[in-house]
Formats: sequence, C-alpha cells, structure tokens
Amino acid sequence: MPAIESTRCATRWITRIIPVVITGAVGYATYVVVARVCSSYLINTRGEVGAAIPILIFYFLFLLLMVATYIRTILAANFDPGLVPLGPLAIEQRSHQNSKRLRKHKHGDLESQSYHPGPDNDPDSPGLENFYTKNVFVCESDGRPKWCSECCNWKPDRAHHSSEIDRCVLRMDHYCPWVGGMIGENSFKFFVQFTTYTACYCAVVLGAAASTLHKRNNEGQPLDPYLIAAIALAAFFGLFTFLMTVTSIRYIFLNMTNVDILGSPSKVYQLAVYLPRGTPPSDGFSVVTYPLPKPDQTPRTRTSRTVTSEASGASLQGRTSSPRLTARDDLAMRSFAILKTGAGENPWDLGPWRNWQAVMGANPLDWLLPIRKSPCTNHESQRGFYPMGHVLTKVCTRYGLTVTSDNEGNGLEMQEFRNKKT
Ligand SMILES: [Zn+2]
Repeated sequence: MPAIESTRCATRWITRIIPVVITGAVGYATYVVVARVCSSYLINTRGEVGAAIPILIFYFLFLLLMVATYIRTILAANFDPGLVPLGPLAIEQRSHQNSKRLRKHKHGDLESQSYHPGPDNDPDSPGLENFYTKNVFVCESDGRPKWCSECCNWKPDRAHHSSEIDRCVLRMDHYCPWVGGMIGENSFKFFVQFTTYTACYCAVVLGAAASTLHKRNNEGQPLDPYLIAAIALAAFFGLFTFLMTVTSIRYIFLNMTNVDILGSPSKVYQLAVYLPRGTPPSDGFSVVTYPLPKPDQTPRTRTSRTVTSEASGASLQGRTSSPRLTARDDLAMRSFAILKTGAGENPWDLGPWRNWQAVMGANPLDWLLPIRKSPCTNHESQRGFYPMGHVLTKVCTRYGLTVTSDNEGNGLEMQEFRNKKT
C-alpha cells in the first residue's frame, strides 16, 4: 500500500529531513549520556556505578518506548490514517488529472482544473445506507449527511477534509511533519504515547546532563560544551513534547480533536436521530425518511418519504398510508428527527473516564504500549459512528423526546422513544 503523502512539495521534503534530524539528535544524546556522563564521568572519574545504572536503565527504557511509538505512529499516519473512501466521481476526476499531468498538458487546460460538485442527488447514492442504518448521525438541514465536494462522498461524523493530503480523514486531528503524516483516529493514541515517552526521554537526558554539569562546576572543572548542547536540545524538545502531551491528554478527556476545538464554544451540531415506529407527531422538529424518494415517485408518495419541515406526524402517517409502498419497503424505511445541539455542546462527550477509554483503551497495558488501535476506531455499532452520551439525552429532552440509557452505560438505546406530549 503506497504512503499517503502531503500534496505540498515543501512539506514532503521536510518530512523526509526530520527523521534524519531526530536520528542525529538521539545519536548525540546517546553519546553524551552513555559515554560522557555515565562511562567517563560517573564510573571512571567518580566511581559511582550505582548512580550510572539507573540513568542507563531509564535512558534506554524511554529510548526503546520512544522509538517503538514513533515507528507505530509513522506507520499508522502514513499507511493507515483512517481515510474516507473517494466517491466514484472523485476517482474518475483524479485519474483523469493524473493522466493529464503525465502528458504534460496541465498548463492552461481548463479540463485539468478540479471540478467540485454539490451533494449527490441520487436517492440511492452509494454510501447513504451507512448513515441511515445507524441511530444517529450528523446531518445538514435537509437531513442528509455532510458532503465532501473534494472527495465526492458523504462524510461520516467527525470526518474532515485535509487540504494537506487532499482526503477526508476520520476524527482528524492535525498533519504532523514530525511523523510525516495525518494524525487521526487510527494514530492519535500512538501519537500521544510518542510525545509522552519523548518528553520522559528528554527529562532523563536533561537531568543526567544538568546534574553532571553541576557536579563538575562544584569540582572547579571547565564547562563541558557537549553537556551544554545536550541540555539545550533536551530542554527544547522536552518542553515541546511536554506541551503537546498536555494538550493531547486534555483533548482525550474532553473527547475533542484539534479540529473539534476550533470555535467549540459556539459550535452547534445538527443530528439526525432515529424515530422508532409509532412516534407521535411533534411541531418541534423536521423529519427525514430514508431511503429518499426516487424522482419518478408520485407527489403523494414523495411527500410521505421526503424531507419535510412539517410536523413529523405528517411524514410518519403519510408514509404508512401510501398505497405505492409494499410492506417490505415500508419496513425498510427509517425516519429521523433533525435536532440541533446547544452552542458549545459536544455530543460525543461521555465523561472523562469513558472518553479516556475510547481513545486509550480499557486495559492499562494498552495505555502504555503502541499495539492495539483505539476502541473508537470500531464503527460497527448501529447506535452511531461514535458513542454519544448525556448531551444527546439532553438534546432529545429539549425537543420533547426521551431516550433511555442502557444498563451497561455503553451508549444510548434509541428503541424506546416516547413523546412527552402523549
Ligand atoms: Zn474530502
């Protein structure tokens, strides 16, 4: 599988140079800590073997963990970043553009300019069923999912288009030049482990070099430029990765990403929430019913199956009375209320502990080792692309709908809706 590279030439070069810079810095730190601090100074000069051994153990422990998490993050970010598939039109356009580029006919050729169509109006648009078979998903005002005009496909909840790699990424966080790839839901856990272990590694280098410099100073020995350079490097990278770690852990506890946090105090999400059969009508929200109506359907049938700004009862009752629908068609239909969250409400917030588990896993070994992916990368649940918690309950209540939590607290069962007005 080819690596997903940045579309920018400068970024591609930076991402190739950075691993060389990191390898050089680690090689230098190893020379200073092992050869100059532990071997030459602590063991040979002062005879303090007991002081050198813990430094060497922590040094190589954090070096090993840092390298392992770095490689894991690079692999995930470059080869499996969690991309949303391209729509058929985008595949066609991109192969057309590539062949044009190969023939060097790009300049001045209007056909080579990318063309960005609006949402696919085909009621049977491929991929729509991935949304309306779930119980809740983020939608536009017409009840359809969000559309990416660059990828020509529907965007799952929390997916965003990255101009850096020209693809939609699931639970996108940021493009990281240090690992040369996109940090999204597949790599965020490994990225946090990498920054944490790098901060710890830098702390060991900083502590070992600074204490040696201090002891040598007390002994009246001249300043060692190797130690000063190591202190400067460790302080710079240590502070940088420490701040990255603190920020990332904060996002984990809030169940947010770098993208989610932008404008979050005023952000409003529009959600399509499944309405079980028999839900009484309400004037408070619009309803969309899937599958969407086909163009050749009669107005009566269309009205019963299309997005409506009228009371939900009109839509729900209309569809059951339509003579054109077979019983099987009727059973396959799913209606959704279109509800808005309040400003600043994060529908995926499950509380700090469950937010932590969604990214880092339930087992402490998963927190420490870069082996298994985050549990939140599993999208098989019918409830939604990502579990929702108390905010969804609050939003439903506001619209006069109630929803009961299941006993395991693993999300929200949408099967037992009742309308308060009944
Ligand atoms: Zn896209």
